[in-house]
Parts: sequence; C-alpha cells; structure tokens
Amino acid sequence: VFSSIEPGIPNEIFALHEEFCNDPYKKKVDLVKGAYRTDEGKPWVLPVVRKTEIILANDENTFHESEHFLGSSEFTYAATSLLLGENSVAIQDKRTLGVQTLGGTGALSIGAQFLKKCLGRSHFYLSDPHWKAYEIIIMQAGFEKSSCYRYWNAEKQYIDMDGLSEDLSKAEPNSVVLLQACAHNPTGCDPTPEQWAKIASLMKKNRLFPFFDIAYQGLASGDMDKDAETVRYFVDQGFELMCAQSFSKNFGLYGERVGSLTIVSNCAHTMPHIASKMINIAEGNYLVPPLHGSRIVASVLKKPALFQEWQSCVKTMLNRIIAMRSGLKKRLEALKTPGSWDHITSQRGMFCLIGLAPAQIEYLRKKHHVYTLENGRMNVAALTPSNLDHVAWSIHDTVLN
Ligand code: PLP
Repeated sequence: VFSSIEPGIPNEIFALHEEFCNDPYKKKVDLVKGAYRTDEGKPWVLPVVRKTEIILANDENTFHESEHFLGSSEFTYAATSLLLGENSVAIQDKRTLGVQTLGGTGALSIGAQFLKKCLGRSHFYLSDPHWKAYEIIIMQAGFEKSSCYRYWNAEKQYIDMDGLSEDLSKAEPNSVVLLQACAHNPTGCDPTPEQWAKIASLMKKNRLFPFFDIAYQGLASGDMDKDAETVRYFVDQGFELMCAQSFSKNFGLYGERVGSLTIVSNCAHTMPHIASKMINIAEGNYLVPPLHGSRIVASVLKKPALFQEWQSCVKTMLNRIIAMRSGLKKRLEALKTPGSWDHITSQRGMFCLIGLAPAQIEYLRKKHHVYTLENGRMNVAALTPSNLDHVAWSIHDTVLN
C-alpha cells in the first residue's frame, strides 16, 4: 500500500540540525534553529514561568479536564487583549474571537483553513523572503495559489517599498496577504509607521485580506504595545483581519505549543457563526487544545505582578540579543572585514540576515562549522560570549575567500 509514497518536502532546519549533531568539531556553532539561548548556550526557562508552574502544580483546583474546542476563554481573552490593547474598541464591541491554538503555527494553519473553506479564498501572498513553514501551512489548508510580494532589497539591506507597493497594487483582489507584525523573520526589518500606512491603503484599495503573524511580541522593541501597534492600526483603519499569535519565543514555551488566533470582524452578530465554524475546524484537526502552556500564559497575563516579572524576563532576552548583535558587529569592524555590518545592529528580533551568498554560507558551515540557514539567516539569540570570536573570525575568513 505504502510503496508508492515519494519523500515529502525536506525541512531545511531539521536537515541542518542533524548535520550539526553529527559534526564532531568542538567549536561548532548552531545558529539555525530559532530558539533563545543563555550566555552559556543553554535553553532558558523564564523564572516567571517556573514560578507559575509551581503555583499551578500546588493548586488543588488544577485539574486535567479537557477544555472547550476553542480553548480556555481566560487564555484567549488575555491573548487578544495583549494583542489589541486593554481598551480595544473591537473587543468592547464584541467583534473579536480568540481561538486557542497549537502554537503560532496552529493559529496560521486553522486561520488558513477557515479562509479557504469558509470564505472561499484561494490566493495567498507571502513576503519575499519569508519563513519557509508558511508554504506548507497554506498548501495543507488547500490554497491553490501562492505568490510572493517583494519585501527585501538584499543589496541595500532595506525594505523594497517600491517593489512591495507595485506587487500589492497588482495582487488579485480578495487575496490573503501574510504580514508579520514585528521582528520580521528572516530579515529582522519591519516597515516604518509611514510604510505601514501605505501598505494599509494599498490593501484597502485592492480589497486584500490582512493575515498578521506576531511571533515575537516584546522581542522587537521590548514594549508589548509598541510591537503590536501595526495590528491595532489596521483594526483602527476598519480592516477585518486575522492574527496568529505565538507564545513560543516570548514565554520560552517552545515545546508546549501555546498560540492564539484572533479574528476581528466588523459586525458583532456574525461572531457566533464564525465561532461555530472554528469549532468544526478545531474538532476536525485536534478536538481540543492542550492545557499546560495556556494556563501558564493566562496566569501571567492576568496578574499584574507576574506580568511585570514577565516583561522584565523579555527585556533580559532582548538585551542579551542586542549585546550579541553589537558584539558581532564590533568584532567584524575590528577585523576590518570588507563590507558594511551596520545591518547586524539595525535589524531587530532574533534573526539577522547576514548578507552572504549561498556559496559563502556553505563555506562558513563546511570550513568553520558555523551553521546558518542557506539564505544567511542567523539566530543571533544563540550567539554567546564564548562563540562570538569564532563566528566573527569565520565570517571574516569567508568574506576574504
Ligand atoms: N511565525 C514566525 C514568523 C515564526 O518565526 C514562528 C516560529 O519560528 C512561528 C510563526 C510559529 O511559532 P510556533 O513555534 O509558536 O508555532
């Protein structure tokens, strides 16, 4: 029965991770996987997460009963409020729905399924370059067509606003456009408020549907409200939209699969219908979402003292990332490595698109055992005081060869 099965689409991150694990070189550096590491190169359980887990474990009212199909309403309310703001008019008007999902990926996935199955959308636009997983997600949801809009001028290391505007103005009306709210993966470069205003006006004119993805709230500027301001701006402009939210990075809950899909509509009376279709999609995919991670997030977001502690944990991560970015730039400048390295510090979030050609990236990996994605995306959150010299020297040697 199964003998005719061809291999699936390979996942670059897993393939490189396997190569990294099998590499016997002592000073090898893994900058592939998008996960935060401490100065010692270790994963970090946020102290506020550890503390909340202990509180929950000792609470006799913590049961392992399954939740509603749409997840815990305490969690989705907290997640939607973090996204749209405490005083969001859309929330007050009851024009929003929050669905608890299996990470940000799960939110993108059930959102795309809804758009295809319930709204008959067929064409998806992604930024060029984009996070590769989007392609599989939209394909699995049944979208017939996906295209790219220009986003990045690799030579000048900034957003190609002319190309982006031209592509969005020519996009098929009613298409879905994936927009990352902050800390764009992989470029680390976000549009300015003026550029977002232009994007919004083009999308309105061309009747394009905004599907936001916010996987790094807090890790772009350190300010939760600021990092969500683009989504809020689109809501204020009267857009109906979806937003996939991930708590993997800003809570360090990678394996617990905590995410939320927020839907904003312009009419409150359609919300029960949207909810009932979403229930069908959740039922068909996994029935009910998991409990553990969402309990932690909900507990932290709703208690001011824990919320403060969480914000300071996010700042700790962000400050370490910023220090590593400037450490790498300083070293390259001290080595007089040809080229400009300003983009290392001007880009934000966990990633830096280093700006080397694919052949150089291969050289960096094969000769110096420094692993990055083929497009040059490096996880700067995995740089440490002990690997910075090696990474900088390796980039220097790669550029000279
Ligand atoms: N969106 C972007 C841009 C991401 O980089 C990621 C994770 O790497 C996600 C969504 C999905 O996050 P999660 O791990 O919560 O599924």
